[in-house]
Amino acid sequence: MSISSLQDTLSGRRHSRDFAFARGDFLRNRVMIVAAVFLALLPFWSLIDWFALPQESIRHVLTARVVMLVVLLLTVLLAHRSKARLQLARFSAGLLLATPAVFYAVVMSLLAADSGAAVSLAGYSFIPYMLVAMLAIFPFTLIESTVLGTGIILLEAWALYATGVLFTLNGLQAIWLLAALLAIAVTANYFQLGLMMRLYREATHDPLTGLLNRGALIHSMEQFALQSPDASRCLLIMDLDHFKRINDTHGHAFGDDILRHFSSILRRSLRPVDLACRYGGEEFVAVLAGVDKEGAMAIAEEIRAQTEASVLNDYDGQPVHYTVSIGVASCYPNETFQQAARRADQRLYEAKKASRNRVVGV
Ligand code: GH3
Ligand code: MG
Ligand code: MG
Repeated sequence: MSISSLQDTLSGRRHSRDFAFARGDFLRNRVMIVAAVFLALLPFWSLIDWFALPQESIRHVLTARVVMLVVLLLTVLLAHRSKARLQLARFSAGLLLATPAVFYAVVMSLLAADSGAAVSLAGYSFIPYMLVAMLAIFPFTLIESTVLGTGIILLEAWALYATGVLFTLNGLQAIWLLAALLAIAVTANYFQLGLMMRLYREATHDPLTGLLNRGALIHSMEQFALQSPDASRCLLIMDLDHFKRINDTHGHAFGDDILRHFSSILRRSLRPVDLACRYGGEEFVAVLAGVDKEGAMAIAEEIRAQTEASVLNDYDGQPVHYTVSIGVASCYPNETFQQAARRADQRLYEAKKASRNRVVGV
């Protein structure tokens, strides 16, 4: 367990925007599945209510079940609409957990005063345990799980207090059990989120440069377009000049060093909201968010100039210079990534034709 992986799983603050999208998608899918399972079980639960509860409280509890049905349907709807919106996916997960919790609170407050309640409640006392255990199903951060779990434990403490058993051996044991279950759920969240991050990184990042790979870039662009269809974006397609010659003269391993060096120039030149990708071989793509064509041309020119000014020593200590050609295009609203990329690619071709080491934007 390293400090870094603990920080990565503690909260979403250090998550990249593309990972936040992926986590939102996982969360959303799980919320929809669990809500569907709850909906399917609801008629059976209502049947149990019918047989287990004292007659005078059935009407209230069944009304609560109908409210539960409506809220669960709303949860499915919200989760369905939360594509590429992590906040909404989180909210729908919270709603999903809050629904049985509120139902539990209603049943407790209805039956707490009843003398025969202890027997009737037997069927419901599993709800807090089920909710805390369920925290392990979702890719929650440790803080999210702890906050939700503590809320459920407080609810159970209130229920035990209302029935007068909180300060008995049974009451304390129930709280202790819930706390132990929460610790297990949070540990499961840690491993789940950690594994998810590692697999996500390996599936979406180029191992040589650490930049996004082609598939991840296209996916991120689709999510980005869904989330903010009208935001202005510009595309840079960059291709290192005469790279084959560098490989042939200085060796493939040194060629790899150049690729890594160029990716560090790219990282330094872009802001956290931008995307940087190794598109393939010695071709790179950057997506600049909220930037107009002139701004994008200036950033591209900065990348080109920094590349031209770089000197790397090869394995024989010989200084080596390299250059890059860049095609720039604006992404229009409702345009696919491929359409904009085609324009940028044509401009890259123009830059190559015009003796390389230049930026072309028209
Ligand atoms: P141009 O200026 O027209 O772009 O010429 P170029 O030589 O850069 O282009 P070309 O497409 O002919 O060659 C690209 C070379 O990039 C060929 C390939 O061996 C090399 N390459 C692709 N991937 C890697 C890699 O991961 N590492 C190294 N060292 N070389 C790579
Ligand atoms: Mg090329
Ligand atoms: Mg090239």
